[in-house]
Amino acid sequence: MKIAVSACLLGENCKYNGGNNYSEKVMKFVEGHEVIPICPEVLGGLSTPREPAEIVDGDVKNKDGTSVDKQFRRGAELALDMIIKNCAELVILQSRSPSCGVNTIYDGSFTGKIIPGQGVFAELLKDNNIEVMDVANL
Ligand code: SF4
Repeated sequence: MKIAVSACLLGENCKYNGGNNYSEKVMKFVEGHEVIPICPEVLGGLSTPREPAEIVDGDVKNKDGTSVDKQFRRGAELALDMIIKNCAELVILQSRSPSCGVNTIYDGSFTGKIIPGQGVFAELLKDNNIEVMDVANL
């Protein structure tokens, strides 16, 4: 099976702070499958490290209030294209991210509060009937 995975879960240093979310659990799960690493924020042209962003009233914004919505949504579209072209059957995504969050995201106050919701990439994948899985549910 072809499985696309949030690149940070595979150890790529593409997180906003320049780090990653390497997950041994993910590595074990994808063993024997073809893996497609994907980071929609990097694909959208954002640099690493970058300002932390959250979804504020439907608009993705940096902590200083600058909108990065265009870059996030463009990156999500490009990542969706990659997934379709590669015929990935499942996408495993990092929790809480304004791009990759499947079930929960930060509430837009930059205070660490988590609410039910989804990131722009996860939402786009679901809208296109692509199966997504929150890494927290692995
Ligand atoms: S956009 Fe997704 S893949 Fe990229 S760093 Fe954030 S959680 Fe990881």
